[in-house]
Amino acid sequence: MNIPKSSFPRIIIIGGGFAGISLARKLSKQEVQVVLLDKNNYHTFQPLLYQVSTGGLEPDSIAYPIRKILKDFPNFHFRMAHVHEINTVKNEVITDIGMLKFDYLVVASGSETNYFGNTEIENHSMAMKSIPESLNLRSLILENFEDALLTSDLNERNALMNFVIVGAGPTGVELAGALAEIKKGILPKDYPDLDTRMVQINLIQSSDRILKEMSENASKKAEDFLEHLGVNIWKNVRVSGYDGKIATTNSDLTFETATLIWAAGVKGATIKGLDSAEFVTKGERILVNEYNQVMGFNHIFAIGDLACMECEEFPRGLPMMAQPAIQQGQQLGDNLLRLIEQKTMIPFTYKDKGAMATVGRNKAVVDLKHFKFQGIFAWYVWMFVHLFFLIGFRNRLVVFINWVYNYIRFDREARLIIRPFKKKLKA
Ligand SMILES: Cc1cc2nc3c(=O)[nH]c(=O)nc-3n(C[C@H](O)[C@H](O)[C@H](O)COP(=O)(O)OP(=O)(O)OC[C@H]3O[C@@H](n4cnc5c(N)ncnc54)[C@H](O)[C@@H]3O)c2cc1C
Repeated sequence: MNIPKSSFPRIIIIGGGFAGISLARKLSKQEVQVVLLDKNNYHTFQPLLYQVSTGGLEPDSIAYPIRKILKDFPNFHFRMAHVHEINTVKNEVITDIGMLKFDYLVVASGSETNYFGNTEIENHSMAMKSIPESLNLRSLILENFEDALLTSDLNERNALMNFVIVGAGPTGVELAGALAEIKKGILPKDYPDLDTRMVQINLIQSSDRILKEMSENASKKAEDFLEHLGVNIWKNVRVSGYDGKIATTNSDLTFETATLIWAAGVKGATIKGLDSAEFVTKGERILVNEYNQVMGFNHIFAIGDLACMECEEFPRGLPMMAQPAIQQGQQLGDNLLRLIEQKTMIPFTYKDKGAMATVGRNKAVVDLKHFKFQGIFAWYVWMFVHLFFLIGFRNRLVVFINWVYNYIRFDREARLIIRPFKKKLKA
């Protein structure tokens, strides 16, 4: 890997997401050698992936080169590498570009889509966990409309214009809202020959309310907003199969659809060597103590989505959201330095900053710890928070200009099929 020898202890961080970057920043000017490994050379701002999928933003505006984030840090090395295995006995990480030894290891590999073992759904549905997946989805949505225009088979046209989103957490809700706005604002202009009233957006939730991690008020209001936008909400319905044409459920309800978007869950992105039952707990996350140490190790840590840190308020582990990842990265930065200096580490306490979701133009729901609100003010807050946490001045500016432009023009100019996506219908 061509990492120079150093007299400082070597800390390897796997993953340049919210957790890995906040940790690397914290260690920036310290007497440690930091090696950050990521399979991509960019950081992805996942909360805005749905806007890439629906043509509201270009992918470049929500991605940022990892090397640029950390360019001024001495003793810092980035390698674009896919980590395949961790050898906890020899203190080595094994990657597609070679092996590297560590003194301290921090695994911040995040999460991946959870299909709960249903390979049929995995093979035929669309996920939205990365920029390439979002671009696939963008292409498929637009290709469906192009195909719908050409076919004279009414059933086929209906299926092409029928969108099914499984999972009504923030991702599903935000995507449903954006699709509804495309139906209302873009399609009649772009496809005047198509009866766009046939476009159906179905949002399916297995429990009895949408946004179930948020307050009852937020759920209720988000449901009102979505219904007003024409989204069909199906609660207490569990999708059990999808063969690329028909989605089946736990009831008699079926959906004939060319596009099923799976936003129903994520699980820890574990890596061989730390993936045995000894380490892995609920949601395939790695069980850590209050210092983010992986059980049984003094020098191996997990942070962010991958880490399951149980506490009184969150007995199933902290939520898989950006804030716990950022805060754990920052705190671990301090704790690693304390550990190296043989001082006592400080236990992590999560400062819950709340949750929010937008449901289309002028509408959002925000739950802060002591203050919950919905509507246009919530939408401004949602926009401000997302702009604030985006990495890079250029990205903030581009996103802001895009949002203002889209708002004034009722438009989404990135509706481009640059990389056509063809669904593979597997048996
Ligand atoms: C569509 C979507 C919308 C979301 N919206 C919100 C929201 O509105 N608010 C909110 O708080 N949270 C939201 N989240 C969740 C939030 O993005 C995650 O909680 C957060 O990204 C977790 O940070 P992390 O650093 O643990 O993981 P990530 O940000 O996922 O970073 C993991 C990194 O590890 C790298 N990696 C993984 N495996 C390997 C490997 N084997 N080798 C090398 N590199 C590897 C990946 O390339 C990635 O860069 C959303 C997530 C998604 C998918």
